[in-house]
Amino acid sequence: MLKNIRGLLISMFTVFKHLFIRPVTLEYPEKKIVPPENFRGKPVLGNCIKCMTCTRVCPSGAINIQKNTFNIDLNKCIFCGNCAYYCPINCIKMSGEYELASSDKSDLNLVYDINKTGENNV
Ligand code: SF4
Ligand code: SF4
Repeated sequence: MLKNIRGLLISMFTVFKHLFIRPVTLEYPEKKIVPPENFRGKPVLGNCIKCMTCTRVCPSGAINIQKNTFNIDLNKCIFCGNCAYYCPINCIKMSGEYELASSDKSDLNLVYDINKTGENNV
């Protein structure tokens, strides 16, 4: 009996203790986090010189470069950041964009026009 009361008091103490502690969660999606600078979100492409380095270091084969297109398949990407790390001209970057969920897999197939500058999703 005493053991039960002790257990009850300990659990009540645990609950009430949290009334005075700042919450660590946010009311998503109304409130959103600002990701840290080194966050690895959606990879975005700048002015690519087609050196093919990123295709060689991508462990999941998510990058496919053709004559005019640069394709990153986020269905395969594991957000390791290798492509951004090894790109010799820093034209591919891991952005802070993390809201990538979609019910349509084709939304996650990013296709950039390699001949255009900037982040062109075609
Ligand atoms: S983040 Fe990693 S898995 Fe994703 S495209 Fe770049 S190298 Fe490939
Ligand atoms: S994104 Fe960078 S590493 Fe990949 S092909 Fe273009 S220039 Fe080379």
